[in-house]
Amino acid sequence: MKVLKFGGTSVGSAARMKEVAKLITDGECKIVVLSAMSGTTNTLVEISDYLYKKNPEGANEIINKLESKYRQHIEELFATPEYKQKGRELIKSHFDYIRSYTKDLFTLFEEKVVLAQGELISTAMMNYYLQECGIKSVLLPALEYMRTDKNAEPDPVYIKEKLNVQLELHPDADIYITQGYICRNAYGEIDNLQRGGSDYTASLIGAAINASEIQIWTDIDGMHNNDPRIVDKTSPVRHLHFEEAAELAYFGAKILHPTCIQPAKYANIPVRLLNTMAPTAPGTLISNDTEKGKIKAVAAKENITAIKIKSSRMLLAHGFLRKVFEIFESYQTSIDMICTSEVGVSVSIDNVKHLNEILDDLKKYGTVTVDKDMCIICVVGDLEWENVGFEAKALDAMREIPVRMISFGGSNYNISFLIREEDKKAALQSLSNALFGEVQ
Ligand code: ASP
Ligand code: MG
Repeated sequence: MKVLKFGGTSVGSAARMKEVAKLITDGECKIVVLSAMSGTTNTLVEISDYLYKKNPEGANEIINKLESKYRQHIEELFATPEYKQKGRELIKSHFDYIRSYTKDLFTLFEEKVVLAQGELISTAMMNYYLQECGIKSVLLPALEYMRTDKNAEPDPVYIKEKLNVQLELHPDADIYITQGYICRNAYGEIDNLQRGGSDYTASLIGAAINASEIQIWTDIDGMHNNDPRIVDKTSPVRHLHFEEAAELAYFGAKILHPTCIQPAKYANIPVRLLNTMAPTAPGTLISNDTEKGKIKAVAAKENITAIKIKSSRMLLAHGFLRKVFEIFESYQTSIDMICTSEVGVSVSIDNVKHLNEILDDLKKYGTVTVDKDMCIICVVGDLEWENVGFEAKALDAMREIPVRMISFGGSNYNISFLIREEDKKAALQSLSNALFGEVQ
């Protein structure tokens, strides 16, 4: 069985929901994971903000606006009086429920319940719509099987067991619809898998049922070998290794949530990225296969800060790096890139919340310099060290660009350059010409 996930924009209006319904009703039984309609989760966050600030009027105004949008969606989605009525009742019950939270104490727990309503509504709408079309559609309640443990990590054993119980309740279903993003935590409370977590849901379900494929449907045309907004002549990447996809997902390719990769990779289930707007396009297939000797893509991540710590005491000393890393750890700041020499170490970070404290602490160990407004350029592909020529080609493309750091050898799939943000466009274009200019 396949697992298909559709994001917020793919179900963002009644018309888009009908398109999705067409795509998923090809006679093959499948599990379909849906996000909330686009904008809904953000609006629910905004409502929660007002409630935290004890402003129920502010919250109610937004709740009413959102409810009237949904009423409109219902009128457009359903054709028969029976289902229009079911739809209206659905919307009323969820919004009355959200409104009930404007009256009492509002904490993190209540917020999680409010945030869960988006996916609960979108899936119930789709389920009714499919039923109205005569399809045997069944809702799988994510709150019955999706669960995190005490470390807030998904609990695969529980998920597998409870999901199978739900599936066995409806063996003759044509299609199963379920909520992305939402879950219960180790204490049984309603929780979620963090923003953008619907991709994660799809991947966890895929692993739990040993799916033949996980499909992530968005309104973008797969992964590209470079940023099409910046560089001319980009082309879609047809195939990626999971680790290549992981690098790209982190480096700004918004198309796939990075958490989604792990469960699918371990269960060895291919993930296919597809485009709702061009459903017959081949998309991008992510699997455990490596295409030998191929550079796949280039991506950039901005707002990076580089910090260099130079110390003559580092020469022949041990424990220096540990002391440096402990400082970053104590401020919960993760390091992206690192380069060392005998007398110094440079690291890059993207979270500068505690930059001043970190710099103060680092000064105990050496001379500290900071470069702001930097950008990481990451080249992804088969970059095993035994291969020859690829690093040289990438380096050669950077010939005219001042490079602050280079990182190679951290994985078999990546080489990264740290440059000034203002040089980003030139670097991406030059790499694109050098690496993808000729037909591969
Ligand atoms: N609706 C949730 C969000 O906007 C989850 C998702 O779309 O993946 O973050
Ligand atoms: Mg999303």
